[in-house]
Amino acid sequence: MTEKIDYVYLTSAPHSGSTLIACLLAAHPMVSTVGEFSSPFSPSEKCSCGSRYGDCNFWADWKQQAADAGIAFDPGKQALKLAPEPGSLTDSFYYYQFSKRAVARIRDTLFKRMFPLKTKTFSRRLRTSVDLAGILCGREKTRIFLDTSKNPFQIRFLRDCPNINLKVIFLVRDGRAVMNSLLSKETIYTPQSAAETWRWCNKTGQGICDTYVPEKNLFHLKLEALCDNPGDTLAQLGDFLELDGVPDLDFNSDYHIVGNYMRHTFDGIIRPHDEKWRQHLSRENLDIFNRIGGRMNREFGYMAKGEGTS
Ligand SMILES: [Zn+2]
Repeated sequence: MTEKIDYVYLTSAPHSGSTLIACLLAAHPMVSTVGEFSSPFSPSEKCSCGSRYGDCNFWADWKQQAADAGIAFDPGKQALKLAPEPGSLTDSFYYYQFSKRAVARIRDTLFKRMFPLKTKTFSRRLRTSVDLAGILCGREKTRIFLDTSKNPFQIRFLRDCPNINLKVIFLVRDGRAVMNSLLSKETIYTPQSAAETWRWCNKTGQGICDTYVPEKNLFHLKLEALCDNPGDTLAQLGDFLELDGVPDLDFNSDYHIVGNYMRHTFDGIIRPHDEKWRQHLSRENLDIFNRIGGRMNREFGYMAKGEGTS
């Protein structure tokens, strides 16, 4: 249908800065993105361009072009629920992240044979995402589609999709900052579940990247490095994406991003990372985080050896 594109998938825990990355790269002339492509949204919600999604010409045109190509596309209903159902043994087997690469691949082969319908359904949904990405890149004359949907399980299906070169950005942020952000901006989290969510997302993302993504197609990105040293970090990201040096970002473009509130407020300025968690997280909550995520946070280099182990 279209030329082969680079499908760049960003995986991370929530509140790790994925919307910032989407806003930054949306401004690059070689990149097409709508941020969290597979997150659901309602036509009455506001797109980052200021219109409601249901009134935004960008989405209407994309839908029409998809229809012309024989693809049913209902913006906002692209949601993919790739996650284990609580209590389902089948799902536990299917989504379990084995530490050994070979074991994970044997599981994948077994599962394809045992549950062909389920596997085909997921594969078809991801291929539709890839086809839609190709249509958008063709329309915008770009060669890179950035999808910041975050859920690492999509990588297992995207890697089998034809007509793309899959690249993965593995984005991390200090778990204490993520915990603080989840507790202050989302009502569904307890200190325990916030810390567990951060650890689970990163552990799963890391395992899936190790198992399925060749090193040359994987970019490890720390939000703090981008915020504190944007020039060098964007240059490295530009190299990874083969953008010929430092991305030349056009912040005057209008974007059509799905993501958090930042999609409405981004002004093109990357600010140094803050450490509000130092004032806001109680000693008790820090202890909870250290117990659940301390070891991983140290492995990522956010805490000194021995810090948080009292
Ligand atoms: Zn829009």
